[in-house]
Amino acid sequence: MSDRSVVHLQNVKESNRNAVFHLIRAHRPVSRSELAKRARLSPTTVSSLVAELIAERLVRETGVGVTSTSGRKPILLDLQPGGRYLAAFDVDGHGFVSHLYDPLFDVRSEETVAVADFSALGRLLADTLARQFAALDAAPDRLLGVCIGLPALLDLEHQTVLSSTVLPPEAGVDFPDTLRSAYPGIPVLIENESTLNAYAELVFGAGRPARDLVFLDVGTGIGAGIITGGRRFTGSFGKAGEVGHMTVDLHGPECACGNRGCFEGMGGVPALQRRLAERGRVSARNGLDAVRADLDAGDPLVREAVAETAEILAAGINNLVNLVDPQVVVIGGEMARLGGPLLEGVRARLRRIGLKPGIDRLEVRFSSVPGNLVTLGGAQVVLDRAFGGPGAPLG
Ligand SMILES: [Zn+2]
Repeated sequence: MSDRSVVHLQNVKESNRNAVFHLIRAHRPVSRSELAKRARLSPTTVSSLVAELIAERLVRETGVGVTSTSGRKPILLDLQPGGRYLAAFDVDGHGFVSHLYDPLFDVRSEETVAVADFSALGRLLADTLARQFAALDAAPDRLLGVCIGLPALLDLEHQTVLSSTVLPPEAGVDFPDTLRSAYPGIPVLIENESTLNAYAELVFGAGRPARDLVFLDVGTGIGAGIITGGRRFTGSFGKAGEVGHMTVDLHGPECACGNRGCFEGMGGVPALQRRLAERGRVSARNGLDAVRADLDAGDPLVREAVAETAEILAAGINNLVNLVDPQVVVIGGEMARLGGPLLEGVRARLRRIGLKPGIDRLEVRFSSVPGNLVTLGGAQVVLDRAFGGPGAPLG
């Protein structure tokens, strides 16, 4: 057999293995014969692929199914809880969260680490992972991969960090390599945190399935994660979704970037605080939950400040909608703490300014996913990488 035929056969085998894994995940618990039918593979092929997945601790046999067509009751297959791990980090300017998920997306281990010296970030990430594996009494070769979610501009093609205005400068750009050296042979991927937020909403979000979705993260800054055609849209140079410096008012306040009227300068949390302070309200200093309490109590000046902020957010969202035409826009980040009054303000304004028809079909909502969106999205990226792209949702 030629070398090329051998490579081809290996590819076929791997893609069959991936298909069987995705089918078990989507239809669990499921019998070998049902898998063979769904995968359009011979029972022998399915049995040997399943044997491999069991040996890899990805799948286990469980219980006995019922069948009406014959007397034989098939053994069912399911994913193995805690058999293998997907590691995902959510890094910000203060430290990081580390989650170890199993392929059922149950968190098997969680650590939150405050980082005093960001020059040691790579080593701290590696040490944390080692500590988590030791606590689980599991060998690190049970790791399917690692994803580091970062508030940073990334070169995804070369998997390198370009820059970040959120991480302290001493973090540098080489920390993923420290982790890669500590876990040779295990994929260590990097992704932008906003993109992971959007991806987690796409995969785990409630409501109708969306193929085009925008996640708007509104805090001190504003960033967007964009999904188009079911895929993460990151642009050619990793800048897609950097919407914070989109101009929403040519004559607006000056921004640190040198322009005027930037989206985040007018729609971010500091701008809301400014509007509240101008009205003699300082509840924002105590966090947005305090602002929410004033809103609920019916304070008209606080309502006015929030309504103005909602108008700005709607203007920025409208620009994104005209560009991406998503089915869903998810508002996340600190600003989401304002709850219904903010959301209603954004929706009402969008209905007025959005292009018709169509704007009434756009769903604008807060996140519906419990848990850490960055690590959930990151774990899904690791799973995609291990099994050749996303399969159907977890059954
Ligand atoms: Zn700006």
